[in-house]
Amino acid sequence: MMPTQQSDHTLPLQKTESSPLSRRAKDRDVFRILFISMILFGLLMGVAFPPLVNSYFNDSGSVSLSFTLMCIAAGITVGIANYILFSIVISKELHYLVEGMNRVNNHISAALFSRKLRTETFEIEVKSNDMIGQVTMAFNTMGKTVEQRLLNETRFRNLTSDLSANVALDKTAAIILHYFIDATCMTSGLLYGKIEEEMTLLSSKGIDTDEKLPRKLEIWQGPIHDAIQSGEPCTLDTESNCIDWITTTTPYGSIRPKLIRIIPLIAEKSTVGLVISACGQSPMSESIQLETLKTYSSYMAPYLQNSLLHNKIQEMASYDFLTHVLNRRFGLIRLHEEFTTAQRHQSDLSVVMIDIDKFKTINDTHGHEGGDQVLKTLTSTLSLHLRNEEIICRYGGEEFLIILPMTNLNKAGLVAERLRDLVEQQTFFYKNKVILVTISLGVSSLSSLVTQNENDLINAADTALYHTKAMGRNQVSIFRNNEAVLLPKNKPALS
Ligand code: GH3
Ligand code: MG
Ligand code: MG
Repeated sequence: MMPTQQSDHTLPLQKTESSPLSRRAKDRDVFRILFISMILFGLLMGVAFPPLVNSYFNDSGSVSLSFTLMCIAAGITVGIANYILFSIVISKELHYLVEGMNRVNNHISAALFSRKLRTETFEIEVKSNDMIGQVTMAFNTMGKTVEQRLLNETRFRNLTSDLSANVALDKTAAIILHYFIDATCMTSGLLYGKIEEEMTLLSSKGIDTDEKLPRKLEIWQGPIHDAIQSGEPCTLDTESNCIDWITTTTPYGSIRPKLIRIIPLIAEKSTVGLVISACGQSPMSESIQLETLKTYSSYMAPYLQNSLLHNKIQEMASYDFLTHVLNRRFGLIRLHEEFTTAQRHQSDLSVVMIDIDKFKTINDTHGHEGGDQVLKTLTSTLSLHLRNEEIICRYGGEEFLIILPMTNLNKAGLVAERLRDLVEQQTFFYKNKVILVTISLGVSSLSSLVTQNENDLINAADTALYHTKAMGRNQVSIFRNNEAVLLPKNKPALS
């Protein structure tokens, strides 16, 4: 949990620094013990030396009292000198170590709640090959672990703030994949998310996105299915599992990795996504790598799930429930986008307004359900015959709007006539009964309007549609020179 106040962040360290010494530690001073030991040792040497001299010369008179006292004094002096020398040398080294430890501690303290990765090193220079050197090395190892931990935490904090600021599915997917690559042993990868029960490609990095790469994964059988079932990250041999669709982009061309890793993203016990990565070299052991990936996947899965949910709600809000084409509100948003693009590129833009002829009679004859069936069949027929960049929306009950970007009035007239003819030729069925359906259409284009305005574009198409209705239905009218003109059937070419 994040602390609520900035001033809190030094508390844990201050507490450790000022933590009271235990009674045993309070009463103990290694240097005092050393000092007493050295003096006692000198004293012992001073006392032991005269009897040794005595026994060596085998003459009890050779050692006088003054000689004995001198030996004792010399022993104590050497003891004190030893202590002073030892303290000077060792204290200097220990001071250096304590200073280094304090400096590292301050860096750690400052980095704890910072959102920036700090460049300070958490290491103390090892100056000797002895116990002090070993203590320094042990401290450095600990510092490295703390540094790694802080790095991960900072990355994670930045990531969560990025993810919180973004709910759009494409952006969220890119952030999650980038994080996996940044924080783990992965160098390239793919992120699939579960949309309508299908694992759909959402983001890729360092992987060839040619036509071999599936946009939707086969998850009902095979190795990917097994990986999902296990719920654990796993490593697969691409050759023995016949996975030839994943190739990594390298400066030397495309390379098929020998091993790939599949990491399920599980939220609320359901697999909401999959990360697939090519296995590279890593200093970490396989089990640690898998464990790390599992931890990260558990962090990321809820964010992906949120974004998928948001995406679904957006889709539900933008599509018409009955016909599954854009509803009026989102159709008009798309029209505004296309209008802005057309103005920016100074290109043309056309719209076609469609109304089903005598639809009330269809309802009256075949019932409301029959009418609904006609609406669904008609929409799928129209959608099937439109190109990717052409947009259809349900504008009203039995009215549809088609947006044709970069299309002039002449071409839009051709499209409209083609659609009219298509509907006229199609046989509609409901409960084995044939329903005759025709449509009336009105067409307008930006270039043939005096005012370059999207509302006028719709109004002009509407005027043309009313003209078609007035002129007998099942035809196309275009709005040209400030008036609606009927197009002759099957001959839509304009002069
Ligand atoms: P016209 O050729 O002049 O357009 O005649 P029309 O009968 O098509 O026009 P009118 O506006 O009189 O009737 C449209 C009908 O469409 C009325 C309404 O009940 C019906 N309708 C609107 N939405 C739906 C729907 O979602 N399902 C069904 N079955 N009917 C609908
Ligand atoms: Mg109508
Ligand atoms: Mg109608």
